[in-house]
Amino acid sequence: MGKCTFTRSAERVRAAGATVSGGVNSNFRMGVAPTPLVFERGEGAYLLDIDGNRLIDYYLALGPMVLGHSPRDVVEAAKRQLDIGLLYGGQSELEYLAAAKVVEMVPCAERVRFAGSGTEAVQLALRLARAVTGRSTVIKFEGHYHGWVDSVLWSTSTPQDQLGPEDAPVKHAASAGQDLPAGQNLELMSWNRAEPLLARLAKGDVAAVIMEATMCNSGGIFAAPGYLEAVREACTRHGTILIFDEVITGFRIGPGGAQQRLGVTPDLATFAKAIANGFTVAAVAGRAEVMDRLVDGAIMHGGTYNAQPAAMAAAIATMDRLSKPGAHDGMERQGTKLMRGIEAAFAEAGMPVYVGGYPQIFTVNLGVTGKPSNYRGLAKVDKAAYRKFTTALLGHGVRALERGAWFLSTEHDEKVVDRTLDAVRAAIAEVAPE
Ligand code: PMP
Repeated sequence: MGKCTFTRSAERVRAAGATVSGGVNSNFRMGVAPTPLVFERGEGAYLLDIDGNRLIDYYLALGPMVLGHSPRDVVEAAKRQLDIGLLYGGQSELEYLAAAKVVEMVPCAERVRFAGSGTEAVQLALRLARAVTGRSTVIKFEGHYHGWVDSVLWSTSTPQDQLGPEDAPVKHAASAGQDLPAGQNLELMSWNRAEPLLARLAKGDVAAVIMEATMCNSGGIFAAPGYLEAVREACTRHGTILIFDEVITGFRIGPGGAQQRLGVTPDLATFAKAIANGFTVAAVAGRAEVMDRLVDGAIMHGGTYNAQPAAMAAAIATMDRLSKPGAHDGMERQGTKLMRGIEAAFAEAGMPVYVGGYPQIFTVNLGVTGKPSNYRGLAKVDKAAYRKFTTALLGHGVRALERGAWFLSTEHDEKVVDRTLDAVRAAIAEVAPE
């Protein structure tokens, strides 16, 4: 097979800069080597771009496409609703059905509110936590990402030499132009260390702890045995709301997300991405006692597009499929094969690697030996080498995120994974040091 080239995409993105700043509509889509791509269509595990390439896709739109691109059942469900109503500014039966499905699938979910994006869901969860506890302080952790608003966009990808001492990490705004006072009630800690967190919670003034229960945005790192349980217990004891940000893990790593897989139930959880396979749906779900504080209207939650009916229809179709017994088994099998295959391919080339996370969302950390326990364990990640690798891989028809995260869908079958591993070996042969 000839190498893929991307000259049309490169030219189109460059020219589009005349109307769209930088030619892209999210920072996560810029800086992609050799160029951000322009697509024409998506089919199962594949994306077709304007250069005529048919690429195996592991971006999966950064997570949503858990059933692959354009699954017929989801698309048809949305289409049926599009024909009869777009947006009501009122309720539809669909949103009640979708909420009932979330309650059925997610352990912490007694009540649900839908939102427009993961970022908005996080905003609502934090607002609820502050209102319910009457406290201001929220604790977040280095390397965990919870959206791009001023109040939480802190220390998501801080350069390792700027982290400061592990017992007193230095908080970094992650964007120019960020309103710094918006983060003043956000306290930063190093994840996966129970003692300092428990001591902090014991002061009794923390509204919420928010975390990715498995750190998927950095490294694919698991909580140490007992850590989540200890945090759960301390939050209960000291009246702190525990929030799991399941925007990536929700519905993707199992029907009930990370909380079900790890056996620890938070007070609130945020969802987006895989809940509706590409439609704009996000949600906060949690304990009735907390969520029903929204009932009297004193706590503001808005959003013109919340629970948009066609998106709700898509969410129901997606969750219907993901709640069937064995729905995640194929991803589990193929993802495991892929993780082990990637590990073996780098090992053969003498390149150290830590492949961490779940078969449905894992991260390839080049340059790391052993198992890191938090963001600080990723100090040796060789970003430049990994970027070279993903660029070479794209030339072989496989699109994987340069940050190291790989998303799988139910459409990534054995054939797709075998083709991917061939491409992985070919790409490594191009970039491995002699
Ligand atoms: N939380 C987590 C864990 C995420 O990974 C993301 C998105 N990558 C968000 C929140 C923000 O979601 P959105 O991009 O839909 O605003």
